[in-house]
Amino acid sequence: MIQQNSPGVVAFIGIGTMGREMALNLAKAGHRVVAYDVRPVAAESLAAHGVAVAATIADAVTQADVAILMLPDTPDVESVIYGPDGLLGNPPTGRLVIDMSTIAPGSARKIHVDLKNVGVDFLDAPVSGGPLGAKNAELSIMVGGAASAFEKARHFLSAMGTTITHVGESGAGQTVKLCNQLICGINIQAICEALALGRAAGIDLQTMRTVLLGGSASSWMLDKLGLQMIAGDVSAGFRIDLMLKDLRLVAQQAQETSVPLPATALVTSQYLDAKAHGEGGNGNQALFLVYDRMSGQGRA
Ligand code: NAD
Repeated sequence: MIQQNSPGVVAFIGIGTMGREMALNLAKAGHRVVAYDVRPVAAESLAAHGVAVAATIADAVTQADVAILMLPDTPDVESVIYGPDGLLGNPPTGRLVIDMSTIAPGSARKIHVDLKNVGVDFLDAPVSGGPLGAKNAELSIMVGGAASAFEKARHFLSAMGTTITHVGESGAGQTVKLCNQLICGINIQAICEALALGRAAGIDLQTMRTVLLGGSASSWMLDKLGLQMIAGDVSAGFRIDLMLKDLRLVAQQAQETSVPLPATALVTSQYLDAKAHGEGGNGNQALFLVYDRMSGQGRA
């Protein structure tokens, strides 16, 4: 039985860019955290911070109130649920699973039904805010699933985020996250275009960014990624490859619901251009290199 407001036991699966910070924040909030990752070195790197390390998924969830997943893509989440020692056969003792990865809404709905059939609650709870939001426990968390499960999960989610919202039934969290990604991708494209235009006219881009941040063109992307674009810093952050995964999920959802998304289709082609030039492992701000090439200016 999960006790609200008292420390619990969390099995955290997926200790990558985001999961590492989220697991650390759960530990800082007083929860006992047991980490598992297919790359053992990733989980082991948390041992010095008081996090226990498990060798298998089944070991991680023994005595856990909740299993939290932060994995790259839909097949990774499905393997942790349905795989040989997966959560379907080895649910956490507290019978609550929260997937915070960004995956297909349809897959989230299927997992919800399959886990419900064995008496386990499942929430899709993807996040926005990037590695900095994860580090500062300031993520925005959009949650789909039963309201009763959301109430059980709130205690854990509040250790990782500040805006924690139940947005509807199973899969709704993932749908809202895909809407978020569509806005992010097109916003990044708009910033690239503005910087390319300003640069070609000889404008100082730092000065331009500063003044735009004070007006109605301001955005998180202009603030954070605009700075990196101007500095030529392509380090990830949120990788081009992960955005392409999200744009693929947006396109699938658009097909399923017959909604034309012309701007998303265009920006997807530009992300594919970046990947074709070997930039899939770079941060999203590397989309500016596409504009360097198209305009014949800049570093590329
Ligand atoms: P990441 O690739 O850095 O980390 C994923 C981790 O999962 C890796 O350590 C990997 O070894 C591990 N993993 C993969 N398959 C596994 C399995 N079967 N079992 C156990 N561990 C496994 O990815 P990330 O940047 O942390 O992103 C995770 C999720 O969060 C993605 O769905 C991404 O779209 C989403 N997201 C990322 C950001 C960001 O800025 N990086 C922001 C918001 C949301």
